[in-house]
Amino acid sequence: MDRHGGRSRRDRSRSSIPREAGIEGIPGRAVTPPMHTGKQADAEREQTRWIRTLAIPFIAASALMGGAVSGAGAWLVGLALLCGPGLGLAALLYLTFTSDTNRGAAIGERRQRVVVVGGGFAGVQAVRGLRHAPVEVTLVDRQNYTLFQPLVYQVATGALSPAEVAMPLRTIFRRQPNARVLLGEVTGFDLERSEVVVDGLPNADGEARLAYDTLIVAGGSHYSYFGHDEWQRYAPELKSLAGALEIRSRILAAFEAAEVETDPQRRRSWLTFVVVGAGPTGVEIAGQIAELAHDTLRRDFRWANTDTARVLLVEASARILHGFPESLSRNAAHALEQLGVTPLAGHRVVDVSADEVAIRTPDGEVEQVAARTVIWAAGVTASALAAELAGKAGLDLDRAGRITVVPDLTLPGHPEVFALGDMASVGSSDGAIATLPGVAPVAMQQGRYAAHLIRNRLRGRPSQAFRYRDKGNLATIGRSKAVADIKGIHVAGFPAWALWLTVHLFYLIGFQNRLLVVLRWTFSFLTRGRGARLIVASPDLN
Ligand SMILES: Cc1cc2nc3c(=O)[nH]c(=O)nc-3n(C[C@H](O)[C@H](O)[C@H](O)COP(=O)(O)OP(=O)(O)OC[C@H]3O[C@@H](n4cnc5c(N)ncnc54)[C@H](O)[C@@H]3O)c2cc1C
Repeated sequence: MDRHGGRSRRDRSRSSIPREAGIEGIPGRAVTPPMHTGKQADAEREQTRWIRTLAIPFIAASALMGGAVSGAGAWLVGLALLCGPGLGLAALLYLTFTSDTNRGAAIGERRQRVVVVGGGFAGVQAVRGLRHAPVEVTLVDRQNYTLFQPLVYQVATGALSPAEVAMPLRTIFRRQPNARVLLGEVTGFDLERSEVVVDGLPNADGEARLAYDTLIVAGGSHYSYFGHDEWQRYAPELKSLAGALEIRSRILAAFEAAEVETDPQRRRSWLTFVVVGAGPTGVEIAGQIAELAHDTLRRDFRWANTDTARVLLVEASARILHGFPESLSRNAAHALEQLGVTPLAGHRVVDVSADEVAIRTPDGEVEQVAARTVIWAAGVTASALAAELAGKAGLDLDRAGRITVVPDLTLPGHPEVFALGDMASVGSSDGAIATLPGVAPVAMQQGRYAAHLIRNRLRGRPSQAFRYRDKGNLATIGRSKAVADIKGIHVAGFPAWALWLTVHLFYLIGFQNRLLVVLRWTFSFLTRGRGARLIVASPDLN
């Protein structure tokens, strides 16, 4: 190349070499099919075998990574490669030039601008679903990563490291040219001017406004302290990665404090852990703390007897895991007791301080429990973005702060604005409101649905109302212990645990994360160890 980007004379003369090997006037084409020698035939057979061998992992990897290459496209290219490299290449070219992305790219035509707020389960699926659509997508999140919340409790107990349950949003969308990621906090919406107000930009430039044609808001939810936000200081919630790291530090620091504590009463309070809320998250973390105390740490301390640690799981409802059938709740309670957890169903936390938790028993008495570590996993309230949107659209919120959307997941009177995931409940045409469970599958299905609806709109096609497909409910309790309710089939123990592992691995984003988590779990299973037991935050223990 010369410095003007053109080819030099020397380059040109070099590139003429293959021309001379083809038909005169038609560059690069052989005159007659070349005669195959035995060696050549062997080499070609070998080459074909290699291509076929590579095609199968390619299909599997694409299906696993689900996103870098479109699912159907990967299968098509893979199958074509199996039939022959030429066909594979042809399929790839066909897909490249016939995708929606190129169809909508007419010169002078402005592409639709889709702004997606929140890169969690719903937001990521929505952006992915638009990868072949003729739109420009901007994903705004205040974190530069998406968090796999179902495994965050394992970070809080040192079983996994933060990077294994999170994935940078830029990595996820690096092969999606129509999507860009913006790090910033969304603080408001101007529905009249179709603009999103973004603050906290990384260059500290103050407020920016993003114009949209279609807006998708999926800000998620957080735990609710039932009007006692002052408890949060003593009972951190397990919602964010920062929260998980703080909890990990508090749990591990409590064992360290017990090791140097000479007063038996005070040592007992260091070794008492209270988990508030016995939904799947509360059950999971209580089980993990018990395993940590009675199993992993037993041999690590000289003075503190970690076997004497108490884990209280406090639940206001009449039974733990109240979203599950009663028999599975009973099963889970029994499994927790075996691990050394005390489930306190029908009990309510009425006060939390630095060294005590006040718990009201079912018969109305209030007991003071000396405990230095309290973890909050109760009640859920929608992201503040729901209130912001509702205020602008003149809509009401439900008791959990969710905004109610119409059956196609858009705001009433604003078909260009979607609200998805934990922050929304879905109204039906007859006025009833479906409060779908606040779980990842709902958010993911809604994200995919919103993308599908936008694509249909661009093609002028109608869309059906959103319908949630409930595939079941899972909760793990500890090593080889879990419960599963799959379309009315109740499973407990090892099979449910194996199912739990498989499902969580499947949905975890990123091949590398899956591999690392499998290795970690295998190692923990075999050694009962937990590799990420580092105190990195400085918990205020007094
Ligand atoms: C500890 C824990 C364990 C769980 N375990 C399970 C489980 O085992 N199985 C299951 O199915 N579900 C589980 N869930 C529930 C599941 O994680 C949620 O239902 C799901 O995350 C909801 O998805 P979402 O997209 O609505 O919100 P999220 O995934 O929470 O994503 C919201 C995103 O919005 C961003 N955001 C919020 N506000 C702003 C703003 N103002 N500006 C910019 N960005 C913003 C956040 O940073 C976040 O990335 C669990 C939840 C928790 C907290």
